[in-house]
This record gives sequence, structure tokens and C-alpha cells, in this order.
Amino acid sequence: MQRRKTHAKKADVYAVYDGREAARIIEPTEEGARVLPACPSLFENAKGASAFSPDRLIEYIFRFAAFLGDFTLTAVLFVFHRYGTALLALLRRGAAFFGQRFSVVAETLLAFPYAVADDARDLRKKLSAIHLQAKNASRTVDSRAVYLRFFAQELKARRGVWRVLGNTAFPLLAVVFAVVVSVNLFSSGYALEVRLGGESLGYIENEQVFDEAKTHALSLLRASEETEAALQNSVPTFRLCRVKLTGLQNSAALCEKLLQSGDIALTHACGVFIDGSFLCAVRNEADAVSAFDRLLTAAQKKDADATVGFAEEISYVDGLYPDNSETLRDPLSLAQTLKEEKTAAVTHTVKSGDYIFSIANQYGVSTAQLRALNPGVDFSHMTVGQKILIAQATKYVHVKLMKTKTKTAAQPFDTIKRKSSALPQGATQVLQAGKNGKAKVTELVTYVDGTQTVRSVIRSKTLVAPVNEILLVGTNEGYGGTQFASGFIWPTIGAYSLSSRFGYRSARISGWSFHGGVDIIKTGGHSTGMPVVAAAAGTVIVAQKGYRGYGHTVVVDHGNGLSTRYAHMQPGSLQVRVGQTVSQGQQLGRIGSTGNVTGPHLHFEVLKNGAKVNPLNYIG
Ligand SMILES: [Zn+2]
Repeated sequence: MQRRKTHAKKADVYAVYDGREAARIIEPTEEGARVLPACPSLFENAKGASAFSPDRLIEYIFRFAAFLGDFTLTAVLFVFHRYGTALLALLRRGAAFFGQRFSVVAETLLAFPYAVADDARDLRKKLSAIHLQAKNASRTVDSRAVYLRFFAQELKARRGVWRVLGNTAFPLLAVVFAVVVSVNLFSSGYALEVRLGGESLGYIENEQVFDEAKTHALSLLRASEETEAALQNSVPTFRLCRVKLTGLQNSAALCEKLLQSGDIALTHACGVFIDGSFLCAVRNEADAVSAFDRLLTAAQKKDADATVGFAEEISYVDGLYPDNSETLRDPLSLAQTLKEEKTAAVTHTVKSGDYIFSIANQYGVSTAQLRALNPGVDFSHMTVGQKILIAQATKYVHVKLMKTKTKTAAQPFDTIKRKSSALPQGATQVLQAGKNGKAKVTELVTYVDGTQTVRSVIRSKTLVAPVNEILLVGTNEGYGGTQFASGFIWPTIGAYSLSSRFGYRSARISGWSFHGGVDIIKTGGHSTGMPVVAAAAGTVIVAQKGYRGYGHTVVVDHGNGLSTRYAHMQPGSLQVRVGQTVSQGQQLGRIGSTGNVTGPHLHFEVLKNGAKVNPLNYIG
């Protein structure tokens, strides 16, 4: 079915000539394909030089055969579809019949040629009589009438035979014909014949194959202007025709034929292609390999540990190449070419009024590229006559060096966040401090002509494992904690130890002193940053930084003459302001060490009608 599609597509590109479809003849030009008038050799032309052509006849025969084949096949299929079961039964009965009467059938079959032979003899006898009759009649009546009457009689006598032939032999022949035509139709299709200077170069699927072949051929001839001109001037013609599709040529085969037809001396050689473009040809692949290996060996000598190769893809292609000194090189000449520059360096000489943007604009490069190429140049103080490098010289191939490098590097710790309903929403608490680890890292570093281009980690071995930070993130929107009998809750989260109780105690300086509250810390230290929450709902009446020796302090009035004081909190941690209503468990700030303290803790007081009372009567 695919081929039918191709067929249809090809038919679409027919040029119409004198009201009839004609072949498309194209001539490749620099601008592309051009449609020319119809080819006189293929179809009839206006001048009537050739009114009929064998190609046209073949075309009609094919169409008629296809129609006949389709029709016969449809008819056969219809009969089988309708009478298939009955036919099979008949065949089976027939087989049984013939099996029993094989000898009879054999005799009958053998008798047939004998009967035919007898009949022929009989006919010959009658014919000689007719000859005589015709001779005699020639003077009176037309002898032809005698013969005609005779043949008519004989045919009439054998009409049974004709009926048998008509009923069996002709349908059979039609089926055979249909099969032959179908096989022919499906294995052939439309293709373009490429003709150059009256010579056929073969058949191709479409013009693109020719374009590829020509481009390829021209790239091979790049070195020789004379030979290139010879090929450029050779204009091919294309003829649309029906051929066996298995015989089509690809662009590589056509390229060789093109070169051969161009009157160019060719020789079998090995072409050297760098990133797909032709450089030159050498006698054989070993010669090419030796030239490239020379470069690699030199690079390897400088660095024995490195893996060496080329940054470009180099391929060797055996085939026919122009036999001239420019195209065909010896290994030494190839090695020399590889050392030479493909494109020279581009430099700019600074003239009056130049500045970095004007130079970059002039050459279509970025200012970043200019700075990278000229590390020693101060672009804000250029002098007239100064040389600026615009592009570095490039070679045909660049040696690529790959080395592994090993170093010790820090392995950063991860932070694992854990949700905690014990903390108010948004409050965080470090449960475990993170610590960086150490790893032995092996990297693969690629250098192209000495410049590092790629760096990738190929192996990493942990020397000291990092310690993950575990961070608790509060989720409790209405933090309550456990209420004591008083209705208060514990005023901190995470710090649950008392370092100092309410009452008289030994003062730091001298004698006894009164401690008006309780000091709350976290067991094992790290009290700083622990959330401080309101022990009960109320109104903030104090929220300030330096409240006497208390440092950052909040006082909440709970009504009924009761209030609570939270002191020594972290600078900048106060989350409430005076006059604000707070709910029980709402965060007020964080444990700190502001004011008159020796270390971080929460100083918590309960005041009853302005007098300090033992907080443990409320939170204990
Ligand atoms: Zn205290």
C-alpha cells in the first residue's frame, strides 16, 4: 500500500503538457529544481515528432492489465464468497469420483489427443477437397467464399469444444494474468532515471537522492577547482518511469557514478571525514589512522595517566575519490595538515573612538567573550593600535584529554523536618544539630587543547558521614498543653526543668535574697529559643525590652487580680504588644538571657493582686 501512495505522490508532480499529463523534467540549479517542458522521448509533444512512444503504450497496457486484474480478482472473490461451501463440497465429491475412476479418467485424457489428431487428419482430408473445390470455383465464384463457408461449418461442428474452452480455459487464463499483473504492480513503482550526457546513471527514488549525491561529490572535489567545474557544468535530466523498486540507487552509489561520469580520474582510497566534512583521502585506512595516532601519541607522552582522544568525530570511508595530489595525500602530508590551522586567529586593531561595545558589535561577539579572550586587556583604557583578539585560531582536530582527579570535600548535612503538635503553629525547634561530613570525591575532568571543558563526579566515598539536622516544626494552631488544677498550663515548650524555685535563696553576691518566681530551663542545656507561651488567656499589659533586671519581658493580666510575668526573653522574640488579647498557649516570645542573668532561662512569676505568689501553686 505504501507504494501506491508513492505512486499517487509522483503522479501529482506530473507537468501537464498540451492538456495531457507528461513527465516532469527537472534541471538542478543553484536556486533549486526547475520544471522544463515535457520530455519528447517519453510522451508525445506538440510538434508531433513522435506521436506514439513505447513508454506510453506500456503505460496503457499496465493500466488495462491492472483494471482486468482487479476485475477478475473481484469476480473470483465474489464467487468464492457466495458459493464457496458448495464449491468445496463439489471439489470433495469430484476428488472421490476421480479417485474411484482414475483409470477411466486417464484413458479419457489420453484419448483426447488421439481424438484431436484424428480430427486434424480428417480436417486435412476435407481441406484438400476444399482446395480442389476452390480451384474449380475460382472462375465462377469467389474462392474466398468457399473457404469461409468451410471454416464456418467446421467451427459450428465443434462449437461444444469452444463452449468448454470458454467456460474453463479463459477464466483460468484471466486468473493467471491477474496474478502476474498484481505481482508486477506491487514490485514496481515510479522512479526517476538520472541521465547525464545521454548516459543513464541509474534510477533513484527522488531528486533529493541526486542532490545528496551531488553535494557529497562536490565535497570530495573541494580540493580541485578544475574537477569541481567539470561536475558543476554537467547538468543531468530526470525521466519519470516505472521500474522494479528493488533496483533503486542510494546517494552514495550515485555519487560514485557522478564522479565517474564527470571525466575525472578516480581511484579507490580511504576518505577522511571530520565531523562529517571531507578533509582529504589517503591510500588506505591504516595510513589515516597512523596520521591521527601521531597526535594522540604526542599528547599521551605529556600525560601518561590521561585518556586521550579527539573532540571531533573522525570517520574513515572507503570508496572512489578523485585521483589528484590535492585530494589524495600521503600520511605525512595529512599529519602536517592536522598540525596546521584550519582558520587563522582574528584580531582587531584599536582605532580612535573604539570601545568594547562597538568592537563586540562589529564582530558579532559578546563583550563577555571579548573579556574572556583578552584577560590582560583593560577595556576601559584601550590605546590606539592595541591588538584585541576576536577569535582564536582553530585546527582541524582538537586533542581531548580526560583525567580523573581525587579530592576531599565537605559533604553538607541535610535538614529533616518533623511536624510537632507539641509546638504552636510556625514555631520551630532544633531537635538535633546538623554537622557536615567529609567525602573523597573522584572527578573526571576533560580538557580540549589544554582548556578544561567538562568536570563530572564519577565516584564519591564518604569518609565522615554528615549528621542530619532534625528540625521540629509546630503544627498546633490552638496550643493548650495540659492544664493544671488552677487552669494554667506550663509556660514554655521544650523546657520543663526548674533551676531555681520561689522563695529565699542564697544570693550570688552576699546573704539571702528573695526569688519572686521560678526559673525554667531545658534539661541538658540549649534552652535558648524555646517557645514561651501564655499560661492562661488574658490581656498583655507589659511587653518591653528592658524592664528593670527582667530584660525582655511580657506581663499578661488574666483578670480576677491574677497576672503572669515572663522575663529574660530573647531579643527580638516578643510576638505580642500591650493591649493585645492572647489565648492560652499563644506564643509570647522565646527563652533568652536578657536582663540580670547568669544563663538562658525563663523567669516566670504569678502575681495575685500585685503580690508575687508561688507559681508552683498554679503550675505544679
Ligand atoms: Zn528568676
